Amino acid sequence: MPLYKTQTLKIYNSLSGEKEVFTPIHEGNVGMYVCGPTVYSNVHLGNVRTFMSFDVIFRYFLHLGYKTRYVRNITDVGHIVDDVDNGEDKIAKKARLEQLEPMEVVQQYTVDFHEILNLFNFLPPSIEPTATGHIIEQIEIVKKIIDNGFAYEVNGSVYFDVVKYNETNNYGILSGRNIEDMLANTRDLDGQGDKKNAQDFALWKKAEPQHIMRWPSPWSDGFPGWHLECTAMSTKYLGNHFDIHGGGMDLKFPHHECEIAQNEACTGHTPVNYWMHANMLTLNGKKMAKSTGNNILPREILTGENPNLSKAFSPSVARFFVLQAHYRSNLDFTNDAILAAEKGFYRLMEAVDGLTAIKPSSTSTLDIAGWKQSCYDAMNDDFNSPILIAQLFEGVRFINLLKDGSATITAEDLKNFTKTMNAFVFDVLGLKDEKAIGNNNDKLEGVIHMLINMRMEARANKDFALSDQIRDQLIALGIQLKDGKEGTTFSVQ
Ligand code: AMP
Ligand code: ZN
Repeated sequence: MPLYKTQTLKIYNSLSGEKEVFTPIHEGNVGMYVCGPTVYSNVHLGNVRTFMSFDVIFRYFLHLGYKTRYVRNITDVGHIVDDVDNGEDKIAKKARLEQLEPMEVVQQYTVDFHEILNLFNFLPPSIEPTATGHIIEQIEIVKKIIDNGFAYEVNGSVYFDVVKYNETNNYGILSGRNIEDMLANTRDLDGQGDKKNAQDFALWKKAEPQHIMRWPSPWSDGFPGWHLECTAMSTKYLGNHFDIHGGGMDLKFPHHECEIAQNEACTGHTPVNYWMHANMLTLNGKKMAKSTGNNILPREILTGENPNLSKAFSPSVARFFVLQAHYRSNLDFTNDAILAAEKGFYRLMEAVDGLTAIKPSSTSTLDIAGWKQSCYDAMNDDFNSPILIAQLFEGVRFINLLKDGSATITAEDLKNFTKTMNAFVFDVLGLKDEKAIGNNNDKLEGVIHMLINMRMEARANKDFALSDQIRDQLIALGIQLKDGKEGTTFSVQ
């Protein structure tokens, strides 16, 4: 029997503002769409936190035995710099500044995004569609919305008519904003351009002559609005009505609000049963953002090369740090906090490693079944990873009691205990047992020296892609290279 039949999972639904029992549309199946990155620059640690939250959610669905289709897109066109409709496309801007073809920008940062997620042990999504690969689907949706009377064309651009839509629907249903207030606050702002109302948003934008990202459409050579891509890709791969839609808290408005409006205007019904929003990562109490320089890049965690860090940390330590906070809580990154997380992580790993040395007895003095259900209860309560981690440390306490002979465990309980610990630590939280590499021996040292030499050779040949790959993959294994005057040395975390 699949595990999901024995567990009651509750999810906090941003739409209702309540925790609700999760009931999938099709029994045993989950469809989840998460807004992916806009690939015009390297992801920062805040972005990684949001994707990690959904990675753990995906992992838990898989662990429960759900057949899960997880769609996470790549935004490679349409995301305007200032999030309203009159700025420049983020990717086109980067391409102009760096004199690159926009698809070169997209390729460079998509590859980088994948490398980062691999380093941090993410599971790949089931489908990773791109906005530019779904222009036809987006045009079809615009046509339907116009036919249904909720959009209008002006000078080759098409806008969603928010006021018209709000006559029969509730624009603001997700974000709790009130359209009258929104209109009152924005009416006099510059830049309304062709729109009837400042709150109307672009479904299709006519491209200016200098705009290089453009496609033919019934209205003009142009490009789709940012919100439209997610409506097109989510419904294409998950259907007009699907289980879960997620993203960072900052996407609630306008992005997700507009998605709901587009779907309603197109199909007449709401698209998503559970809206999930992950909270922000701050750095030393301030919002992490590329523009202010108040940020840490994920690779800098692994090399320690950031003024906010006293040393390097392994990917699993960073993961552990992030997952010690609930995905809906704010999380502040400080050097002290990650140092503390590192201690906790290695304590957990040491205990898990010690499980194999425990000998069973004829009786159990520990309530393994109760403890196991507490682990599930934590995750069933809106994926509460910090409570789960607290339960795993209760498991560490059990291990220590067993080791010093203050408790006993039967063979069956020990099997169950070991299986549950491993499942939650490695499969659900996605941590890696880096302690195992800590027991380095002569052979391992020899292999690392061989890789150091190969990296030196690659550098001498100016093959920096290979030399970086060697360094990054060693980092992913918890092996840190340090280049110095005496040559390259390594340390194992
Ligand atoms: P973007 O590439 O800007 O579309 O962002 C990708 C994802 O990262 C979105 O889900 C954002 O909500 C999320 N995000 C952006 N900044 C942060 C932050 N400081 N902390 C957590 N998530 C963030
Ligand atoms: Zn989106």
